[in-house]
Amino acid sequence: MINRYDPEDICDRARAAFLGFAIGDALGATVEFMTASEIAAKYGRFREIVGGGWLRLKPGAVTDDTQMALCIARAVREHGGWSLPAIAEQFAAWLKSRPVDCGDTCRKGIRSYMLNGTLEVPPNEWDAGNGAAMRMAPVALLTLGDRQLLERYALEQAHITHNNPVSDAACLCLGEMLHQAMLGEGKSRLRRTADLLVNTYPTFCFEPYRGLATGYVVDTIQTVFHWFFRGRNFEESLVGTVNQGGDADTTGAICGMLAGAYYGMSGIPQRWVKRLDGDVAKEVLGMADLMVRRSPLLADS
Ligand code: MN
Ligand code: MN
Repeated sequence: MINRYDPEDICDRARAAFLGFAIGDALGATVEFMTASEIAAKYGRFREIVGGGWLRLKPGAVTDDTQMALCIARAVREHGGWSLPAIAEQFAAWLKSRPVDCGDTCRKGIRSYMLNGTLEVPPNEWDAGNGAAMRMAPVALLTLGDRQLLERYALEQAHITHNNPVSDAACLCLGEMLHQAMLGEGKSRLRRTADLLVNTYPTFCFEPYRGLATGYVVDTIQTVFHWFFRGRNFEESLVGTVNQGGDADTTGAICGMLAGAYYGMSGIPQRWVKRLDGDVAKEVLGMADLMVRRSPLLADS
């Protein structure tokens, strides 16, 4: 493949995407399930990684979002490439390790794999939570340079737990925007991709922003897009997102992933990098390198 991109720049953005994702999770977890006004009353503007929240986390700890995304990356590393059974096995091992939390739909899907070996749950109109979209970081990195591969891997991993057209559309759109951001495209290009999703599924329309930030993937995406396009830098986008409350760790993680890919490592505030759990930081950075260097774009360059 003829490569007009700078591999160093791409790797930097890939690392920032996975690190930004974990930082968004760690930051947002403190205010998960709070309303925007409860957050404002307690913190003013909430902007530091301090732990706590309903999960009583240590400062810098991450939750299921980062852990499940890492499961995918570990499966790729251990299998030496994409393997759906290997991913499902990682999810199962993770669930058995008694994680601090796990979404209902994810739990149901993983249990169905553990009981019956199911790698794809049946289509379900109610499975439109953000649990599949929140696992897109390793998928987007691994498939950089090949849209068809992105589509295949994104939906395969999603359907282990979520088989729903709205969730699918969100996963694909996020994946594509991540690809574009990692290749250094501008916000207007990313905005066209977001608008395409809205044209196909008008329910995702985020302008005017309704202010809903629940775990319903439509609310999640609206919140992330609103703050990603409105924010002038990584911090502004992420702070805006988590201060909406609701599923703040997951909206934060997804916004952090997108903004990370867009602004690169230098855009992520150092105080947040330092606060993130050291082992998690090390693993996400290592996995980001591993995933993106295996991607069609970089593997042969
Ligand atoms: Mn979580
Ligand atoms: Mn969450």
